[in-house]
Amino acid sequence: MFDNKVSYPIPVLPMQTRNKALAWRPLAYIPDPDLHYSSVQKKKFAASVKQIRLFKLFSVAIQSFIDAQQEGSMDNVYLVLGGKAKYVILKIPLAYIIGDNQGGDTIAGRICFYGITAKRISRCCDATAENYDDMSPGSCAFLNMEDIMEMVDHQRWQDLEDLYQSQCWNPFFEVDYGANPAGIFLAACPPEGLHALEQGIFKHLLDEILGQLLKPEQIALLDREVQSWVVQPRQRLFRSSNFSESPRLMFKDGISSLKNTPGCDRAGMMFALSIATLTRDGHAAFGRLDEDVTLNISYTLEMLLCYWAWLKKTTYWNIDSPSQLENVKIAVSTLLDELVSCVPRLKGNGWNIPKVHEQLHVPAYIQMFGAHRNLHTGPTEHNHIELSKKTARRTQMRANDFDWQVSNRLVDKFVVDIADFTMSDDLEEPSSETQRPNGIPHNSAVFDILIWKDAVGGVHADMATPSTHGKFMPCQAVLHCLTKHCLGGAAVVLEEEAIRICCVTEFVTNHIHLRTNPVERDGAWFDNVVIKGQPDEHNIVSLTQGNLKFMFCFSERPLVYYGVLHPAYGYYPQYSVLTHMYRMQYVNDPDDILGSSDHFDQKGDCWILDDDDMLNGSSPYLSVVCLDAVESHLLMIPYHTHSKFKIGVISQTLWADKFVTY
Ligand SMILES: [Zn+2]
Repeated sequence: MFDNKVSYPIPVLPMQTRNKALAWRPLAYIPDPDLHYSSVQKKKFAASVKQIRLFKLFSVAIQSFIDAQQEGSMDNVYLVLGGKAKYVILKIPLAYIIGDNQGGDTIAGRICFYGITAKRISRCCDATAENYDDMSPGSCAFLNMEDIMEMVDHQRWQDLEDLYQSQCWNPFFEVDYGANPAGIFLAACPPEGLHALEQGIFKHLLDEILGQLLKPEQIALLDREVQSWVVQPRQRLFRSSNFSESPRLMFKDGISSLKNTPGCDRAGMMFALSIATLTRDGHAAFGRLDEDVTLNISYTLEMLLCYWAWLKKTTYWNIDSPSQLENVKIAVSTLLDELVSCVPRLKGNGWNIPKVHEQLHVPAYIQMFGAHRNLHTGPTEHNHIELSKKTARRTQMRANDFDWQVSNRLVDKFVVDIADFTMSDDLEEPSSETQRPNGIPHNSAVFDILIWKDAVGGVHADMATPSTHGKFMPCQAVLHCLTKHCLGGAAVVLEEEAIRICCVTEFVTNHIHLRTNPVERDGAWFDNVVIKGQPDEHNIVSLTQGNLKFMFCFSERPLVYYGVLHPAYGYYPQYSVLTHMYRMQYVNDPDDILGSSDHFDQKGDCWILDDDDMLNGSSPYLSVVCLDAVESHLLMIPYHTHSKFKIGVISQTLWADKFVTY
């Protein structure tokens, strides 16, 4: 119906509240010229005429906003927030205007053209196409609004033309931007770094890797590797929905088929690809390329994922520290330099695209507007549906009455919404999404196993109650570990003095939800965990990583839960920034595996990997650990199906620190 809207949020509220449709007030609607002119008529209008007409509409639309900004105009306002109210002096700043990129260009009066011949490549700064080659932190300067205003005042039309700026007065020049000299050029919807990263850099990088560097038969290998993870026993971190910050990893159909799908999960594809390059078969897919090209690709993927995680943070550097800001600027600049040199793009404009240059502005945006997610326009764009599109649908759609009817519907809507909000506020129940308490979740299976020795020393483990739970009986290796742990060196234990253990398939400890279930719906599930050891004499706490196989407690001590763990060797030479290579422990391993030249390459400081596809016949070395000591989940991907090695991914909360520290 209409492309343009002018609306503002109530900025004193936290982001969650601010993003609600109820917190937004349209200042005006900009009517769609389609309602009033035919397409032939519209074509006859010069671009400058269209621009001036739009500016005239903007000028009316923001008049009340400009009035409200004037000194003294919002003094003694009675402000009600929740149960409190008082008279206040309100100041109204304009931080940024929500909208899409093209909308931002129109508001700032920039010609929407980004081809390689464009005279300027961003509406915020003075960079030209020549700046593409210069990724240094100070390579461009934000436009100064006073300068542009002066050009218009003095009718320096050619200067404006050279800057791709509209040759007329922009009503947004009259708004107060506080002390920001860039004014509307930064305030008009600063390009989102996250959006530019996912839709620009990620997209082009994936295109380059999956569309240029690799051939279809190699991509098929990669897809097969990624698909193989879906049929692995599951673990909590396989699903990104179980961990809010995590990109998606499971792609049932592989990743190449999604390459060109708009809006697909590009960060997830980057993540899956970066893990795949470390596996045996995924790495083989890059066999046609030189080893250093492959290494560069792995490096670039991980580097960009760290940056991606960093952009999603809620807190950043100390706002008063110019040196910290400088560090961040250098980090972004280095990232772009390395991207361009590690994975060169030779097709089309290569990496000479505005979305790459715009990343250089990100540190300044964060300095100005706070956490980058503040700029995320998704929720507010969505409100546009609630506030304008839905209201518009409830009119008679007649050109002449349209605006009048929309505004009436909207006022009605606000009255009803506020009443509803007030009522539901009173009824609000305590949220059920509170932290899960420690203990046994309601959907865990619970059963007892009796462990006993008969008169001739034979060891037995019987499913006691309920007998229908036989399907949860653990495998031989786990049972062996359990009986050894329970009976230890005990002499003869007869059935009547059997040891009863209470077993669960799910358990929450330290607010970590653990699951070990061989018959979970949709396939087996065994979580990987990090377990904290006791501090040694130097007070150093060692960590053990491994795969949890089973969970239980002794009936006489129902509060202390134990797990049967298949541990991995703690020494992990670093192959990459985001992952470690773990070696699972087996019964027939040498005592000093790191000293064994069969297992460890001292010179290369790395494991000798088991690249052959032999079925691994060794029995796992299992141990019993106390679940109190579980510190976190760990995402582990096998090096290949039968491998003794697993690729462990470091906690995503650490990714951002790998990009920059202040
Ligand atoms: Zn710039």
